[in-house]
Amino acid sequence: MDFSIDPELARLQQKVSRFVAEEIIPLEADPASYDDHGNIRLPLLHTMRDKVKQAGLWAPQIPVDQGGLGYGPVGMATLYEAMNYSIFGPVCFNCAAPDDGNMYMLNKLASDEQKARWLDPIIKGDVRSAFAMTEPAPGGGSDPSMMQTTAVKRDGKWVINGRKWYITGAAEAEHFTLLAKTGDDVRGGLTAFLFHRDEPGWHIDRRIGIMGPEEHGGHCELVFDGLTLDDDRVLMGVGKGLKVTQIRLGLARLTHCMRWLGLAKRAVAIAADYARNREGFGIKLAERESIQMKLGQAAMDIEIGRVMVMRAAWRIENGSKARQDISMAKIHVSQLLNKVTSDAIQICGARGYSKDTVLEWIYRYARQALLVDGATEVHQMVINRFLMQNGDDFWGWGLGDD
Ligand SMILES: Cc1cc2nc3c(=O)[nH]c(=O)nc-3n(C[C@H](O)[C@H](O)[C@H](O)COP(=O)(O)OP(=O)(O)OC[C@H]3O[C@@H](n4cnc5c(N)ncnc54)[C@H](O)[C@@H]3O)c2cc1C
Repeated sequence: MDFSIDPELARLQQKVSRFVAEEIIPLEADPASYDDHGNIRLPLLHTMRDKVKQAGLWAPQIPVDQGGLGYGPVGMATLYEAMNYSIFGPVCFNCAAPDDGNMYMLNKLASDEQKARWLDPIIKGDVRSAFAMTEPAPGGGSDPSMMQTTAVKRDGKWVINGRKWYITGAAEAEHFTLLAKTGDDVRGGLTAFLFHRDEPGWHIDRRIGIMGPEEHGGHCELVFDGLTLDDDRVLMGVGKGLKVTQIRLGLARLTHCMRWLGLAKRAVAIAADYARNREGFGIKLAERESIQMKLGQAAMDIEIGRVMVMRAAWRIENGSKARQDISMAKIHVSQLLNKVTSDAIQICGARGYSKDTVLEWIYRYARQALLVDGATEVHQMVINRFLMQNGDDFWGWGLGDD
């Protein structure tokens, strides 16, 4: 068993960390860096993306012959954590959701023609993308088999009607992937389609306000009233929509965890810095056992999360789907992000609650982590399913579920 990372990857991680510390973190303190929804202003993002490209750090998760650095899940785990030490980090490197998950999905499943049209512009950073699956009741949410949006073949074309909501990035995205019902079969009744923002037959009904800062393009409710697409817009095949979703969301959940670990480490660093310097009742906060316990617990929770994420990444890199590992990591890391950030705010007192640090930003953002890409309870259900199926083999040290 070898827990070390490749020296070249370690050097790259240091380079990313340096770039984040020197170029991105200083932007966080300037209100002019933010758009109206708490994210990095788009013109500034474009400048930062150019700088990332010049530094040779662009899209490390993309194969080298497609313009990236060619790293798989283990490299991504190492680098995404370093990027999200800043709240603005991942999007500057083209490693933020939902583009990151969409690029992975398209690279794995799209035909060469589809890749040229739908994937390459996202890789280059020329367009943004969105993945539209969730629907208002009685449509599909945690349970995708409840999907109501339909795609019906008429005169050789797919005609799509229905409604989606909470679609991240929709107001900025040009390239969309949409899940629709094409049959009644529970496993084979869904199909994934690709469409462009400028095509008629759909519109954004509203941008839904949320408690946290928003990704560019927000979280939108979309209406489909006759979007008409040719067969070449089907991704992977008719009836393969559930498979597309599983392939996309598997790694996407884990990449969320990779990034959230970076945010949690940042929260600890801010709290530790305050505790080292702030004095009360005759001693430094950092000398108090109750503060030491909070910070020690936070460090341990983060480290457990890092080991869980890295094992899942290693399993995926070695051919496993690592489904139970991803579910466990998703629950643990989303919970630790909430707990660690709340404790960090507590340690910093009023300053923690203010906008003088990014703690309050991270805290508002963190709450969604317990919901997106599968709520905690759904992942508990998945873990239990593997436990029931596999009995004592659940605890094996091999590659996991496959
Ligand atoms: C910030 C944000 C961004 C999002 N971005 C996207 C996006 O880009 N694209 C997209 O398609 N969707 C997106 N979503 C939607 C997200 O994927 C769904 O919210 C999530 O899948 C849960 O679905 P739901 O909201 O319909 O909850 P429901 O299915 O209505 O479930 C509600 C609650 O019930 C509980 N629950 C559900 N199932 C079970 C169970 N089996 N056992 C026990 N309890 C259960 C859970 O606590 C859950 O939170 C986003 C959501 C948010 C908040």
